[in-house]
Amino acid sequence: MKIAIMGAMVEEVDPFLSESEHEPLLKYFKKHNDIEYGGNLYHEAKYRDLDIVLAYSKIGKVYSALTAATMIEKFGCEMLLFTGVAGAVAPDLKIGDLVAAIQLCQHDLDITAFGHPHGYVPEGKVYIEPSKELLHIAKEVADDRGIELKKGIIATGDQFIADAKKKRWIADTFDADAIEMEGASVAVVCDSLNVPFFVLRAISDAADMDAAFDFDEFLKHSSKVSSSFIIGMLEKISKSGN
Ligand code: SAH
Repeated sequence: MKIAIMGAMVEEVDPFLSESEHEPLLKYFKKHNDIEYGGNLYHEAKYRDLDIVLAYSKIGKVYSALTAATMIEKFGCEMLLFTGVAGAVAPDLKIGDLVAAIQLCQHDLDITAFGHPHGYVPEGKVYIEPSKELLHIAKEVADDRGIELKKGIIATGDQFIADAKKKRWIADTFDADAIEMEGASVAVVCDSLNVPFFVLRAISDAADMDAAFDFDEFLKHSSKVSSSFIIGMLEKISKSGN
């Protein structure tokens, strides 16, 4: 089984590659083969019996779609796990919470002028759902580790949302719990190519204030937390004999 692991930013995939004193778990992909393709670096590695391809795409829907498609079409990945950070929309989500997407949509996709709902284009769908099996595995990892894993609708668009009004509009229009900039584009690619996928996000901000805030500080910490969680999922996938 060949598995794609991707993030949007270098900080989100770094913990998989570098050795960390505090998180001995996070040094599993020490030996890797690096391949440059389409302006991105893809790390081929091994975790137990699993073949891994790890990469960050750069921020946004277009870059993330390119990376997901490359991992599937060029590298032959049969499953994709996304790890990253997101802004909170649901009031019960706090900074640091882990959220697994149960549905993903594009909040900035708008041909409503033709009578279509927000987030919809003909022959597409507003919401895309990740693999139920992977959500189940994630729940097992959370239970084993005593971590609370929240589940929610993730809305994706090509904007960093730092505005209470815009955040409210996205929440009301899509019933969204969290917002970010890559999940739904990756979901469209995986769904179209029949590749099971999973999107994990650690909440980095409340999506209603100054973007500079302490986003970068939180990013490093949360990237470690979510990559450690992904390692937990790989352990289970490996054990299940895939
Ligand atoms: N600090 C970066 C920019 C980060 S953009 C720089 O200066 O280069 C935000 C990234 O985190 C995106 O990858 C997005 O998926 C996620 N994200 C976190 N909070 C978000 C929010 N409030 N709105 C949109 N995306 C958010």
